[in-house]
Amino acid sequence: MSEINLDDGTIKVDGEWLSAEQISEQIQEKMQSGDMKFSALASALETLKTAMEDTRTLEIKLVLPEKDYEKLLAAGGTQDERQCIRKAVEAFIRDPEPAAKTGMAPAPGASRKHPSVRCARCGCRIEITSTRRPLEVECPECGTTGVVKAAAKTESRQDEPSAD
Ligand SMILES: [Zn+2]
Repeated sequence: MSEINLDDGTIKVDGEWLSAEQISEQIQEKMQSGDMKFSALASALETLKTAMEDTRTLEIKLVLPEKDYEKLLAAGGTQDERQCIRKAVEAFIRDPEPAAKTGMAPAPGASRKHPSVRCARCGCRIEITSTRRPLEVECPECGTTGVVKAAAKTESRQDEPSAD
């Protein structure tokens, strides 16, 4: 399978990344010099053009808190933010629920919707991802901690976390 860089619109030919224009130029040069061995270039050009026709460019301005931005770069394992975002998008598309792998999520077959409680201080919804009880939870909004004593089933039937 051909290696194609969709961002740059280039394809790897004999270890070199070439754009469609560069391939066209090389083919023309070969034709002019009587070298008819350009079938590899021609097929690479065809492959690249087909691949590029089947793409969409995302024009996105994404503002992240500095901390999240650092997490993104760390998770991507590279300093190239574009590659990090690409990885994140691919991970999201291929595995929309990566939380299922963390061990925090309920076992397969269990309800997908996590039980939740309301923060006693600000009323914010706190998702319970562990079945452990009693469980100390922290409000993502105000940082208030509380303890969930019994199993919370649904949003309407909850145990209020008591603020410390
Ligand atoms: Zn809160």
